[in-house]
Amino acid sequence: MKNLKFTLGIIFRDNVQFKRAVMMYSLVNGYGEIHFHRNEKLKITVKCAKDCPWMCVAGKMYGSNNIQIKTVIDDHTCGRTWANKNMTTSLLPDLYLNRIKLNPTWPVESFLSTVESEWNHGCTKMKAYKALNKDFKIIEGKHAEQYTKLWDFVEEVRRTNPGSTVKLKLDEGRFHMIYVCLEACKEGFKAGCRSLIGLDGCHLKVLHGGLLLCVVGIDPKDETWIIAYAVVEMENKATWIWFLQLLADDVSIENQNGWTFISDKQNGLILAFQKVLPRCHHRFCVRHLYTKYMNLFKGKTLKDALWGNYQKNNGSTFQKGDGGGLEAR
Ligand SMILES: [Zn+2]
Repeated sequence: MKNLKFTLGIIFRDNVQFKRAVMMYSLVNGYGEIHFHRNEKLKITVKCAKDCPWMCVAGKMYGSNNIQIKTVIDDHTCGRTWANKNMTTSLLPDLYLNRIKLNPTWPVESFLSTVESEWNHGCTKMKAYKALNKDFKIIEGKHAEQYTKLWDFVEEVRRTNPGSTVKLKLDEGRFHMIYVCLEACKEGFKAGCRSLIGLDGCHLKVLHGGLLLCVVGIDPKDETWIIAYAVVEMENKATWIWFLQLLADDVSIENQNGWTFISDKQNGLILAFQKVLPRCHHRFCVRHLYTKYMNLFKGKTLKDALWGNYQKNNGSTFQKGDGGGLEAR
């Protein structure tokens, strides 16, 4: 787009594509005075500033609905401007839709300064606000629409992956939780993985929020093996109980003493373990512990002491605590 030049004969799909190309050319190259002098479906004349000779005329091609450049004077005598008429509330949402999807709580001031620094053009706060609002509505609309298709998704997974466990739970007709354990993941885990399961959860950065809960095993090549996942509205004891009961059935946990779980200290998880899998071994992940530990105990010596001790593979060497030269108690 930086090297876009309007030359005679270039063909565009329609007037919308041509106008979009003109606006991008104006934004990228800093010609803020470019405007549509004549703006009809089949004939468009574009001019620049009052004393600038640059102009371009595009019209319908003979025998087709495409638009072609018929006249062009590619010569600017104007200078770069800070204000740009083409930074419109119809173009901005298109340019930033994907990034707003990833950051749905983008504050308007931060969005505004991003737009200004990336394009080197001024943008009013109202334009930035309208652009964000337009994208939020598009994204929210799409998300809300997708929730209505969840039953179809559940049926499709069951049809295409017989033996899979897919549970959808509603709360007064509203989405509450979904749990998915595919047959291949379930059987693969039972056939070749150790009786060791890692649990974790993370917040979903979308407009409707929620959490993704995930359980993984370790396969014979020491690599991660996804067993099941769930999306829940919130993380609490009831959610974890529902999740752990389904998981215990899926991976056939009968003799609980032979199983070990590793997790962070998620909300309600310990209570859920006490209820559903009280005899399983439950340990906390050192990496998660370390993120809290490092806030209180700073420095490489203490870091090495922590990791050194956790790498001990039996109780007596752990108690001896020679990792990093410090004693662990
Ligand atoms: Zn110009």
